[in-house]
Amino acid sequence: MESSNLLQDTLGRKHDYLRISITEHCNLRCTYCMPEEGISLTPKPHLMTADEIIVIAQTFVNLGVTKIRLTGGEPLVRKDAAAIMLRLGKLGVNLSITTNGILVSNFIQTFKEAGIKTVNISIDSLIKDKFNAITRRDYFDVVQKNIDLLLQEKFKVKLNVVLIKSFNDNEILDFISLTKNKNIQVRFIEFMPFNGNQWDKSKLVSYAEIMEIVQSKYKMSEIERLQDAPNDTAKNFKINTYPGSFAIISSVTNPFCSTCNRIRLTADGKLKNCLFSNSEIPLLETLRSGDSILPLIHQNLITKKAVRAGLDDDLKFQNPELFSQNRSMITIGG
Ligand code: SAM
Ligand code: SF4
Repeated sequence: MESSNLLQDTLGRKHDYLRISITEHCNLRCTYCMPEEGISLTPKPHLMTADEIIVIAQTFVNLGVTKIRLTGGEPLVRKDAAAIMLRLGKLGVNLSITTNGILVSNFIQTFKEAGIKTVNISIDSLIKDKFNAITRRDYFDVVQKNIDLLLQEKFKVKLNVVLIKSFNDNEILDFISLTKNKNIQVRFIEFMPFNGNQWDKSKLVSYAEIMEIVQSKYKMSEIERLQDAPNDTAKNFKINTYPGSFAIISSVTNPFCSTCNRIRLTADGKLKNCLFSNSEIPLLETLRSGDSILPLIHQNLITKKAVRAGLDDDLKFQNPELFSQNRSMITIGG
């Protein structure tokens, strides 16, 4: 097989976007991401070293990956995070990061040197007590300050907001108001089921419900539907007089699998061909033995299912026996 076709699955989807989780550790404990009792951390020898991350990333770039996103856990808590970013920045890809924002002020220069232009920050409430309740920590002011710092430093900032019914759905309009004075993108994410995150459908705020709330304040003529980027998981909008924009990521009620171009690499060196897949292909042992990882990459791609790892209808997707076989989000990275 031509190496240029290795990242194509049986449905012809080309995978040019690699998401790398560089750590399972985090300085927050978001309730929707992490089980209350915590997770059992992988022993360090079984985690990818910086060198291994670069070798695997380079392999993917050689096969056609053009975009890499760093995630975690919280990617910025890893001690060699800066070195990893700087080395990945030399691979000639579009490099970006998803972070909870707490440590961002220490990394402004690194982001610039690594060529990171867009930073996604997760923030689920604009009210301090609520933010602290959902993250089980007290970093609201730091995150706010760091969002402003990124804007000041001319980064493109996207805010990831996981919506949970009766918790923060009453803040949808406040988040959109942020786009009135700041050129940011607010991304509303439907709450998704993972192992240990107490998901049930009644907590979901759907795409349709979000739009209904937006339309309670803004006239249809004020809500502009923007062109989505190719392979975009978000449906993009803006209020026509505001500089910023908002988007809805509806993996639950409107999956976007037919254009999926993502592959995920976990901190312990396993490939996941879908966020919802519990079948993973370990790369590290093979890499460490000196053998080629290309056959494993190919195997991972050709076993990718058409829709959400085979959880293709609501009954399967919402079945705790099925979704709890997957990892917790904290060890996948979003
Ligand atoms: N620590 C970083 C952060 O919070 O941005 C990166 C890792 S975090 C797992 C990546 C993204 O996944 C975050 O935007 C987070 O809000 C989102 N996420 C976590 N659990 C989720 C869930 N159950 N449903 C939807 N999004 C989730
Ligand atoms: Fe940590 Fe991000 Fe998960 Fe929150 S969403 S617990 S910040 S990894």
